[in-house]
Amino acid sequence: MIPILSPTPDNIRRAAEALRRGSLVAMPTETVYGLAGDALNPKALARIFEVKRRPFFDPLIVHISERSWVEKLCHQIPDGARTLMERFWPGPLTLVLAKRDIVPDLATSGLDTVAVRMPSHPVAQALLQEAGTPLAAPSANPFGRLSPTCAEHVAADFSDGIDCILDGGPCAVGVESTVIGWEDGKPLLLRAGGIALEAIEVVIGKVLEKTSATPVPQSPGNLPWHYAPRTPLELWNPGDSLLRANSGLLWFGTETAPRGFVHTENLSPKENLQEAAANLFSALHRLDHAGLSCIYAQILPDVGLGRAINDRLRKAAAAPHLAHEGDC
Ligand code: AMP
Ligand code: MG
Repeated sequence: MIPILSPTPDNIRRAAEALRRGSLVAMPTETVYGLAGDALNPKALARIFEVKRRPFFDPLIVHISERSWVEKLCHQIPDGARTLMERFWPGPLTLVLAKRDIVPDLATSGLDTVAVRMPSHPVAQALLQEAGTPLAAPSANPFGRLSPTCAEHVAADFSDGIDCILDGGPCAVGVESTVIGWEDGKPLLLRAGGIALEAIEVVIGKVLEKTSATPVPQSPGNLPWHYAPRTPLELWNPGDSLLRANSGLLWFGTETAPRGFVHTENLSPKENLQEAAANLFSALHRLDHAGLSCIYAQILPDVGLGRAINDRLRKAAAAPHLAHEGDC
């Protein structure tokens, strides 16, 4: 059993010591819980990949608590990146920048860029300060599976390999950070996330979106499937009638729950996309534990945080479920 600790100063010190020894700590952030290790220690990085069973070609995000680390980790920083740091850090925005040699190749999967973020969660901030080193922290779940948005989700997914789980309560944002990179001096959305693209464009102008026709910088993390519950998940439109028996529904909106589902989860009865994002992974965890043969998920409006939610749902629906019977 991995201990779940309340984030007292003593426990933060204990966790920071573990990190300095090269061990891993599950830490709360405002997006999702992260599986944190010393970003400058290749052995700790290797442990992250091993414990998560994450393929080595999927680069990690390096978390910092002070702006001075940006210059130590990165160079050739575009003006737009500085503007975004001013406006959105600390917060759910990751910037992919040219890396310096101090960043181990394992953190970047051999790319010459590193993904950097300054989280706003006070426990993450305190841990970073106390550890005195940047922390690489992918989501604290087995690779490809649902992201954890509370300490119990992490405890349910892992039985060893992690020194402790710091319990910072439920994550306020609930989806991963927005990832922005630059190509030929132009900003590019690499992953939709907790800061709406529209808010970023207000600050730095048009951001290109990755499409199959867009030449993207190598971004191996953008795999076709991800964020998947163990129960098969299929996208659903109101009015769809072809329902399987024993299925659940993840939906959104002010109307009464559609009939015919064994278990329904409304992400936001008020149709608030921020609330929907904050509820997304807990609702999916509950549906995944309800003994269903299929989860149907409604696609939300593709604006603001709806874009990040839909990205997660589309990738979850693309997951292969070869081992399951009764796929929908
Ligand atoms: P996470 O899976 O939440 O740990 O987020 C890491 C994601 O950030 C990766 O899967 C990539 O999509 C993106 N990323 C991280 N580092 C880079 C990089 N150097 N270049 C492009 N994308 C990156
Ligand atoms: Mg993840």
